Amino acid sequence: MSVESGHLIEAFARLGLDGSLVAIGDRGYERHRRVWNGVIDRRPSLIVRAGSVADVQRTIEVAAAAGCLIAIRCGGHSFPGFSTCDGGVVLDLSALKQVVVDRAERRVEVSGGALLGDLDRATAPYGLVSPAGVISHTGAAGLTLGGGMGWLSRRLGLTIDSLVGADVCLADGRLVHASEAEEPELFWGLRGGGGNFGVVTRFLFRLHDLGSILVGSWACAATESAGVLAGYAELAARASRQLGTAFTVTRDMMRMSAVWSGSEHAADASVAAFGGLGGQLSGSVGGVTFLELQRRLDDHFPWGRRYYAKGGFLADLSPEVIDCLTSSVAAAPTSDSEIYVLQLGGAVADVSDHETAYTGRQASFYWIVEPVWDDPADDDRCISWGRETAAQLASLSMSGNYVNEQSDFGGETTRKAYGNQKYERLATLKARVDPSNLFRLNQNIPPA
Ligand code: FAD
Repeated sequence: MSVESGHLIEAFARLGLDGSLVAIGDRGYERHRRVWNGVIDRRPSLIVRAGSVADVQRTIEVAAAAGCLIAIRCGGHSFPGFSTCDGGVVLDLSALKQVVVDRAERRVEVSGGALLGDLDRATAPYGLVSPAGVISHTGAAGLTLGGGMGWLSRRLGLTIDSLVGADVCLADGRLVHASEAEEPELFWGLRGGGGNFGVVTRFLFRLHDLGSILVGSWACAATESAGVLAGYAELAARASRQLGTAFTVTRDMMRMSAVWSGSEHAADASVAAFGGLGGQLSGSVGGVTFLELQRRLDDHFPWGRRYYAKGGFLADLSPEVIDCLTSSVAAAPTSDSEIYVLQLGGAVADVSDHETAYTGRQASFYWIVEPVWDDPADDDRCISWGRETAAQLASLSMSGNYVNEQSDFGGETTRKAYGNQKYERLATLKARVDPSNLFRLNQNIPPA
């Protein structure tokens, strides 16, 4: 044990935490230091498994006083591994996963360590939903702070568009509430600015009627995908905002889904139209509940495999984009490596770009290139394919980016994601609430 970690452990042990401490050599250390992406292999000096909001405040105070690196963890799904570190402290909120539904007020309170599955399981039995992502083991906190997009975004907006308030523990240990009425600038920054401004211990979201769900899923061989996608582009451009659509291309296959939610009117015909895009498409419509839909891809992205990701926004699905997608994926390094494209627009674009820190409201689609592999010997080959493919797609994409799905960071990455004006505003906020840049393991915005 190093002198640094010895001091840290003593300092934390004196606090009398409601949760627990896991240090190097302790039972459970190997399990608790792991994050979702198998590429990330870091060894923090100490993992604080917070058992209460007070633990979060105490941990921040001690880490700030000691000047040590601190990583904040909810679901552990950060692609670049921001929720862990070598040396330093991991503040692990995963035990704080309470979700409380207030049906009368149509609100849901979500603790800072809850997963998307915790949220959906709490609200769906009442026929209510707060829209989030597409894989249930993703952390609600990390996803929300970047924006949060999924099947219902076109109808109900991004996750942040349902956020009405958040309790945030700042770098000086103070707990503040941020909403339109209190700390409005912090509330603006939390909606897209990532984990830069403090640790959110509780989110308060608006709830919506889930309504009926109708899911269509189809697949075809990769050789057929260009033709099908040309038809998809036309159909998606005319689609109702009650439809969320997405497709994935791999070197062997193309998979496409259309998810209808809300009132049933026109659901069948709208979903079925996507299945009629080409003779080679096979698939089905219906037979999937909302909770099943939200878990459907869980096993496709398990903990511990090796991943790299890079994304961007598209104004449309032009023939050049379709050609780039289909030709680059043909050279994918593994059969599981993919390019995923999610349709945006609808309610996402109802909110103007300056209203929240999230950037990319006018995009019609979001793409993400995602090599997936298992053998560390393949790291360079797989990451190179990801970077090269992303560079080609980026040349056809809009400015701005989604900070939550970028394996690369540093340099100008964050400034480019937000654009100069928003970046400066975020840096000014950062200087007020975290002047020493305590929370720097993120797509970092150094204080102005
Ligand atoms: P963590 O690694 O725990 O945290 C990531 C970062 O978020 C931390 O470093 C910290 O900066 C911040 N953070 C976490 N918790 C807190 C907190 N309580 N307070 C303050 N800061 C905090 N995105 C979508 O929009 N839609 C999707 O459908 C979607 N699907 C995904 C599926 C998978 C398998 C993966 C790996 C990612 C997906 N993402 C999706 C991206 C996802 O939004 C980000 O990876 C996000 O950071 C994950 O959050 P987490 O809490 O699991 O991550």
